[in-house]
Amino acid sequence: MAESKRDYYEILGVDKTATSDQIKSAYRKLAKKYHPDLNHEPDAAEKFKQITEAYEVLSDSQKRAQYDQFGHAAFDNNGANGFGGFNGFGNFSQADMSDFGDLGDIFSQFFGGGRRSARSNVPQKGRDRRMIINLSFNQAIKGYKIDIPIDYVEACPDCHGTGARNPNDVETCPTCRGRGRVRTRTNTIFGMMEQESTCPDCSGTGKHIKYKCSTCHGAGRVKVSKTITVNIPQGVDTGDNIRIEGKGDAGINGGPNGDLILQIQVAPSTTFTRKGADIYISAPISFTDALLGATVTVPSVWGDCDLIIPPCTEGNTILKMANQGVKLPSGKQGNQYVTVNIKFPKNLNQSQKELIQQFADIEEKKPTSVMDWLKHKFSSKK
Ligand SMILES: [Zn+2]
Ligand SMILES: [Zn+2]
Repeated sequence: MAESKRDYYEILGVDKTATSDQIKSAYRKLAKKYHPDLNHEPDAAEKFKQITEAYEVLSDSQKRAQYDQFGHAAFDNNGANGFGGFNGFGNFSQADMSDFGDLGDIFSQFFGGGRRSARSNVPQKGRDRRMIINLSFNQAIKGYKIDIPIDYVEACPDCHGTGARNPNDVETCPTCRGRGRVRTRTNTIFGMMEQESTCPDCSGTGKHIKYKCSTCHGAGRVKVSKTITVNIPQGVDTGDNIRIEGKGDAGINGGPNGDLILQIQVAPSTTFTRKGADIYISAPISFTDALLGATVTVPSVWGDCDLIIPPCTEGNTILKMANQGVKLPSGKQGNQYVTVNIKFPKNLNQSQKELIQQFADIEEKKPTSVMDWLKHKFSSKK
C-alpha cells in the first residue's frame, strides 16, 4: 500500500533539492488552498491531508533523509525502518507550526485541542512590536534622545487587571469550571472528533465577573497612547536593536506585555566611512607637507583634531589616530584611520621651478629612466 502513495515532493510541487524555506512556502500555499474549511471541493480534505503529511516529513531533516533513502517504506508501520508511522493525524502535534502565523489558527481549529490551544488559559507574554528608527550619522555616533508616540495596552489601573469592580466580584466560571476551555464532539470527514475550544462565557479566562470595572468594562486592560522618551546610546549602528520592555502587545490571560523593539537605521556620512567602531577618511595633503612633515587639521566624528604627518610620507599611507573612532554602547572605542592623499600643484611658477630643480640637482644620484630603475632593482638577483 505504501508504494502506491504519491511522492511527497510531487505532492508539494517542489524539487528533491528544495530548501526548507521553499518547502515551507509551497506547503503554506497549498494548505491555504485545500483547507477543508476554505475549500469545499469533495477531495479538498484528502488533498489537505496528503500535503500536510508530505510537509510533516519533508520539513524534518531526519525524516526527510529517511524518506529520501527508503521512500514511503520509512514510515510504514510494518517496515523495518519505521518511525512508528502515521496514524491519521496522530503525529502532527510534533510538527512545529509556530512559523505559520495566521495558519496557526487554522491548525488549532482543524486538529482541535492541539498543543497551541491547550495552553489558552495560561498567562502568556504578548508579542513584541517592532519600529524602525532612522538616525543621522551624527545622531548615531553621539547618542540621541528621541520622543516616540506609541499606543499600547496595559493592565487597567483601577482594577489592577482583574476587570472586576472589587476583588470579591471575581468568581470561577461556572461553564468551564475555571478551565477556560470546553469540549464538544463533532462529526467530521475523518469521523467523530472531540474538539476543545475556548469557553464562550469567559473567553478562556476561567473567571466570571459579577460586577465589571467601569473603567475597562471588564477587559482588565486599557489602551494607552503616550509619548515615551528613549535615550539612544552613543555608537549604535544599522542593525542594532533597542528593546523597551513592556511596550509591545498586551499579554494574554494576565501575562506581561511584549516588548517594543527599536530597529536602528543610520544614514551614511559624506565625509566618514564607518566600519563597526572604526572610522575611515581620506585627507588631502600638500606634497611639501608630505615631504617635510607637518601637523594638519583633519575632521573626526568628535570635531577637528590635529594629525602629525611624518616627513617623507608616501601617498596612500594610512595613519592611525588612536581612540578617535566611535564609542560603542559596550564602551569600546575604535580608531580613526586617515588615508593620505598627496596633492601636487597644477603648475609651477618660475621660482618654484628653479627651487625644485635645485632640489633635483642635489638629490642623491639615482637611475633616471624606468628601464634603468628596473635594471638597478633586479641587478642584485642576477
Ligand atoms: Zn469559562
Ligand atoms: Zn478595570
